Amino acid sequence: MIMEASRDSYPMEFGAMLKGEHDVIYEIAMIPGTVQGDHHTIMWMGNKPVDFTIIGSVHSHPSGVIRPSDADLHMFQNTGPIHMIVGYPYRETDYKFFNRKGEEIEVGLVGGNQLK
Ligand SMILES: [Zn+2]
Repeated sequence: MIMEASRDSYPMEFGAMLKGEHDVIYEIAMIPGTVQGDHHTIMWMGNKPVDFTIIGSVHSHPSGVIRPSDADLHMFQNTGPIHMIVGYPYRETDYKFFNRKGEEIEVGLVGGNQLK
């Protein structure tokens, strides 16, 4: 779904928040007022719903470089512990997860509805 949204947004960035519970990300939440640009997705945190299931963010890099920018690092610090960046051409494997500090972290994928 994220890859599809990223492809739809190309060449603009796609951005959303990640929602999760019990260490499982189960949904993405669009933030009203999100601005898509060529290089940055600006999320207005003032519009962020009060929702404690928001555990991080996801956004796409149309450049294909899957590495957090300085602006991304700043945003990571303010939005939660788990951040996903997907890179063009948005194949199933074109993503990485990062922690608040921008260090790459391992996040497994859960298929379908089977929660472990
Ligand atoms: Zn970025």
